[in-house]
Amino acid sequence: MPICGVLGWPVRHSRSPALHAAGYEALGLDDWRYQLLPVPPELFDETVRALPGAGFVGANVTIPHKEAALALADEATDCAREVGAANTLTFRDDGRIHADNTDAPGLIDALPFGPAGASAVVLGAGGSARAVVWALVQAGADVQVWNRTPERAERLCAEIGGRVAESLPAQADLLVNATAVGLQSGQDPFKALPLTADALRGYPCLVDLVYGERPTGLVSAAQAAGATVVDGLEILVRQGARSFERWTRRSPPLDVLRAAARGEPAPTA
Ligand code: NAP
Repeated sequence: MPICGVLGWPVRHSRSPALHAAGYEALGLDDWRYQLLPVPPELFDETVRALPGAGFVGANVTIPHKEAALALADEATDCAREVGAANTLTFRDDGRIHADNTDAPGLIDALPFGPAGASAVVLGAGGSARAVVWALVQAGADVQVWNRTPERAERLCAEIGGRVAESLPAQADLLVNATAVGLQSGQDPFKALPLTADALRGYPCLVDLVYGERPTGLVSAAQAAGATVVDGLEILVRQGARSFERWTRRSPPLDVLRAAARGEPAPTA
């Protein structure tokens, strides 16, 4: 029985188990399982090293373990190395642990247009912003990065690419929120970020990595401004789909994963 899972601390609210299990069911992968793996940082290494012996073929990795996952791997993709974090571990038959970062290609998969030559503004300079900026720079976008703490944006741009934005440009093809703003329900994004609802009209496409039970304030405001919106659940689905494909070697049923992530009934064929 091949087993996969998601390592995090805390991780109980993760939608990944529902998403992957729905994919296994849709493809008739009846003996595959996906488990929540709540692991505190001090037990991360020994837990991961024990997983292959317990039947695991792969694991997703979320906060706060993404850097530790890269550090313990025997081999890693260029993307994981350059971003400095891994969200997908694969346990090889020869005992080696392979690390990948599917957050970066997942972002590109989720975009409604190819970003080559597009202008993009990324809000944030944490772990997710690093993957977003890496993906957009590699894809040929012109990327500006704004962060509440400007020194972090400077470090990110020096290591990964893009330019620091001291203030936001009036217009860009794409705006990505990779800050934690919006995580707390009811938080007003226009108090925490250097934006107004009116200024959103300069951005025809918004990606908000944050998701919760309801659309974030930023997503609602961008929709009201007529923007094309990609929400955090779609980003979750796209990174999960890449991990799913790596482990099962099957093409992921995106509609099924999407419905499961949103807690909706599986689409009928
Ligand atoms: P992180 O490394 O902790 O970075 C947090 C970022 O948010 C930093 O840039 C921080 O700015 C900024 N920030 C926090 N509170 C702020 C505030 N009140 N005002 C302005 N900026 C604020 O976190 P992360 O891993 O990058 O994750 C960022 C968000 O993306 C999280 O909400 C997470 O839920 C979401 N996410 C979603 C997915 C998905 O699949 N949809 C995947 C990964 C992450 P400073 O540097 O100034 O502190």
